[in-house]
Amino acid sequence: MSFQKIFLLDFDGVIVDGMDEYWHSSLLACEKYLNSPYITVDQKLYKKVPNTFKEIRPWVKYGWEMILIVHEMIKTENPINNFNKDSFINNYHQNCQILLKNNSWNPKDLQKILDESRNYQIEKDFEAWVNLHNPFIEVVEFMKSLKKRKIKSGIITTKGEIFAKQILKQLNIFPEFVFGYESGTKIKIAEKISKTYEILGFIEDRKKTLIDIKENLKTSHIACFLAEWGYIKESDRFNLNNEIKLLKLGDLKHLVAI
Ligand SMILES: [Mg+2]
Repeated sequence: MSFQKIFLLDFDGVIVDGMDEYWHSSLLACEKYLNSPYITVDQKLYKKVPNTFKEIRPWVKYGWEMILIVHEMIKTENPINNFNKDSFINNYHQNCQILLKNNSWNPKDLQKILDESRNYQIEKDFEAWVNLHNPFIEVVEFMKSLKKRKIKSGIITTKGEIFAKQILKQLNIFPEFVFGYESGTKIKIAEKISKTYEILGFIEDRKKTLIDIKENLKTSHIACFLAEWGYIKESDRFNLNNEIKLLKLGDLKHLVAI
């Protein structure tokens, strides 16, 4: 029995650049739903994504972490800024845990208000929300050429499934499936998919996720590609073992030939 061929792709930073949307939605979540006494939200903040936020983004694994970051950046006292961001980044995961504890927050509730913020915008002005996402045209083309070759594509994202689906629909892309954070870890999802599909590759911009895929016995056979156009850390480009390939947008056309 031969399995259906499929390419797996991450969503944020691989198919779309959602930087404007992350900032906008997280800021709105802080303003409308977080009820923090430490912030006041100046409307001017919505106009431009600060560099500090862009620079911290490669460290983010789950959406709720962006609420923590935005909150820390807009705090009235001792905010994170361009000058002190490195000490935050250097101990990123621990710092997130400390912030959760100090504010008596939990990831689930923060994720919920991020999703609420997205739902609010979708109901209010769907077009405006969609337009905060900039698709990587080469990737959209890549997915269309896969389809022509009868190769499926599947999305594994840490975003809410419903949000990824809405954007994909606007891009006229209808993958075989979209798994969001609701479906569990990417490793477990990839494990499950590999039982019923022949996975030709996984394109992702979080290096640690690809390392985990390679180190897991049940998924180590999957060809892994690090999307260099995504939210990667400068250091990610180096010390890649030959199991994970650094992929450029221009290389996608060669991948279709697989
Ligand atoms: Mg990503």
